[in-house]
Amino acid sequence: MLIFKEKEALSDYLNSIRTSQQNVGFVPTMGALHEGHLSLIKTCNAKNDITVCSIFVNPTQFNDPNDLKNYPRPIEKDVQLLTNMGCDVLFLPEVQEMYPENTETEIYDLEPIESILEGKFRKGHFQGVAQIVDKLLQIIEPDTLYLGQKDFQQCMIISKLIKLKNYNTQLYITPTQREEDGLAMSSRNMRLTPTQRQLAPLLYQCLVSIQSKRNLHPFSRVQKECFDLLTKKGFQPEYIEIADCETLQILEDYEPHRKMVALIAAKIGDIRLIDNLILEENMPTHF
Ligand code: AMP
Repeated sequence: MLIFKEKEALSDYLNSIRTSQQNVGFVPTMGALHEGHLSLIKTCNAKNDITVCSIFVNPTQFNDPNDLKNYPRPIEKDVQLLTNMGCDVLFLPEVQEMYPENTETEIYDLEPIESILEGKFRKGHFQGVAQIVDKLLQIIEPDTLYLGQKDFQQCMIISKLIKLKNYNTQLYITPTQREEDGLAMSSRNMRLTPTQRQLAPLLYQCLVSIQSKRNLHPFSRVQKECFDLLTKKGFQPEYIEIADCETLQILEDYEPHRKMVALIAAKIGDIRLIDNLILEENMPTHF
């Protein structure tokens, strides 16, 4: 696996090997890789000639300085995992490389998705996400970009960014990888204490309950049950919502003819977890 730390060297290299027959797939990450990330690499390998992965803990998308400081960075282990997976290229820039001093910050038109759900609780988060993904797409110019459904709202934001900037990149969304007890894999899970880890699958259980009760009760009742249960178990739930799968419009109640997604965010101690579940069987892989 080739490792690049400088954007120009990476883009020169990719331009030198890219031909009409060789297509490039790209998997952006913040590292601390787990099976969720590796499933993206695997899909990318299967569908592209060249797999590029990036590891960059992007400071502009963190609204909580402690979260940024404590974000795990096991870089040697990550390099080993990517090598074992057969990833071709790793982009591993320093902050200075992505955000040189005296460069202007671009503002993206991401409304109305930007300020709901995650955006409501993490002010500026999606501007930061758009900023870094825009920079990475400019450098790498991938044919296909691979993202995980785990970050459902982020997928929609990036889909919007691709349209906004007319990138010639297709977006491919892969399913959420879970632990055996249902907990969505996340780099933040490694910071959970054993007690918190035991409780954490409750988020997924709430989503399953929202899904299974959709023909039985009004959503407001199921929503309250979930809030109460999480609070009782020591979580601080931030939101539990159902939304239209394509527009992310938040819905008051289940609507039988709509494709819906349930989304949840809760803190346990100082660790914030998110998850989502599509309420119908057929999951979209393209936005
Ligand atoms: P992150 O390193 O958290 O920025 O995630 C990098 C990519 O991996 C994003 O597209 C995430 O949606 C995806 N991802 C994270 N966790 C999972 C998971 N459990 N299953 C599938 N994809 C995931």
